[in-house]
Order: sequence, then structure tokens, then C-alpha cells
Amino acid sequence: MEMTHNDGTQQAQAISINHYLQSAHIFCHFTMFIDSHCHLNFPELRPNMDAIRQAMQQTKVGGALVISISLEEFDEVHQLAMDYSNFWASAGVHPDTETGQEPTLDDLLQRGSRPKVLAIGETGLDYYRLNGRSVADMHWQRERFRTHIRAARQLGKPLIIHTRSAADDTLAILREEGETEGQGADCCGGVFHCFTETLDVARAALDIGYYISFSGIITFRNAQDLRDIAAYVPLERMLIETDSPYLAPVPYRGKTNTPAYVVHVAEQIAAVKNLPLTEVAQATTHNFRQLFRPEIIN
Ligand SMILES: [Zn+2]
Ligand SMILES: [Zn+2]
Repeated sequence: MEMTHNDGTQQAQAISINHYLQSAHIFCHFTMFIDSHCHLNFPELRPNMDAIRQAMQQTKVGGALVISISLEEFDEVHQLAMDYSNFWASAGVHPDTETGQEPTLDDLLQRGSRPKVLAIGETGLDYYRLNGRSVADMHWQRERFRTHIRAARQLGKPLIIHTRSAADDTLAILREEGETEGQGADCCGGVFHCFTETLDVARAALDIGYYISFSGIITFRNAQDLRDIAAYVPLERMLIETDSPYLAPVPYRGKTNTPAYVVHVAEQIAAVKNLPLTEVAQATTHNFRQLFRPEIIN
């Protein structure tokens, strides 16, 4: 029995060292870019996984965080992370998800502690599609957001924040739930994904220790305001993402987006900040590792 036990432990250690070496290897030698937010389980992308991964390799996109938007789809998202060493998953229910199961704290804690789940979300507030309702009517969205924040803080994993036409409430609720200092002992921190808000909101997000992630929108001709914000946000607090299959960057605007195109987001940031592309690549990949700790959670 003892022998079997030892063998098991050694094997487990070997597997975990292997995992570590594998990710360290990927990060050091191949990774230039990481797509911090994509929806690879969506029907536009899921059937084309081989082509998607090939394109990633060609463009030196070394990894992708696959984002959950409902409890029903979580297993699909998680399976992608289990099938491929350079994919990771999040657990959460999008504020726009109005059909399906409402997540309890327990639902999120349970899914959030599965292997390769790096974050809780996407979560937050979206008052853009009120469909005839008032902001007061969206109480359920605010409650759902609070449940996600509590889960993330209990797990010590970061939040992936979606906010649209609701930045004031989003920031107020984060602060009310204790997210005030980023690196503080109880703070889980996180990222404002697909940032399209004002400079004031960017400043407030940075003040509570959060990262800001830019998507292909930053390449759009009419997005000068967003490029000005990218010029302001310090490189060490920035992430890049595609939010694929949506929001393909120029020159692919209107087409199906994939993680390989995250390079165009990085190129735009490099242009705005007048930095070499490799510096933006290294910094955003480093930031991804700092926030999500993929080497530890595998
Ligand atoms: Zn979103
Ligand atoms: Zn998304």
C-alpha cells in the first residue's frame, strides 16, 4: 500500500513539474501574445479549433483564456481548457444572460475551483440593453454581480468585468464589496475587459488596482478617444484580448474574430505608445501571468 501511495505521489509530482516546465517553456520561447478574453466554445469557432490553433502558432499567440457566460456552457468552456495546455477557463454568468440558471455563491465556488479555471466572470453590469426596463429594474443584475465578487474574493481569483452604460454602479459595487486597493490582502483584483469607457473610468479602475484590457475596437477608425485612453493607461496595467468571435480588428473588421488577431490589438497599442511591438507583447504577457497566475493554477 505504502509503495502504491509513494508511486502515486511521485507521479503527481512529476505531472505537476511537467506542467510547470511546459508552461514555462511555452511562455519563454514561443509566447509573444496571450488573448486574455475569447469565446472559443461559440459555434462560430468551436468546429474550427485546428485551424484556430494553427493560426495562433503562426502569429505567436501562445495562449488564450476562454470565458464563460452561463452555467449551462461552463462544461464546454472548461473542456477546452482541459483538452489544450495553453487554453484556460473562467467561471461565471454574463450580465446579459437572461435565460438559464441563476448562479448561487456555491455554484461559482465549485466551478471556480476546478483545474485550469483562472478567474471569475465575465460578470458586471450592462444597462445598454434595458429593453424597456429602468435601471432600478436591473436589481437582479447587481445582485448577480455581488455574488460573483464574493466568489472571486473567497477563491482569491481575479474578476473579469464586463461593464456597459453602467460604469458608476460597477465601480461603486466593487468598492462596496471591498475591492478598493488591488494588491490588498482581501482584494481579488481583476480586469475591465473590452474597455470602451471614459478616461475617468479608466483612472478609477486603475485606482482600485484593476487592469484594463483593450480589444479590436482600438483599431477602429472612429475610436480615437479609446486610443487616447490607451496612451494614458500604463503599459504595466494593460491586457490585450479579442473577445472573439466578435469585434475583429482592422483589417478583418466585420469578419469572424479569432485569438490570432490579438496581434493587431498589440500593434495598435505599440503605435499609440510609440513602443516596439515586442515590448508590448512581453509586457501584456507578463501582466497576464501576474494577474491570472496560469503556472500555479493548472
Ligand atoms: Zn463582455
Ligand atoms: Zn466576452
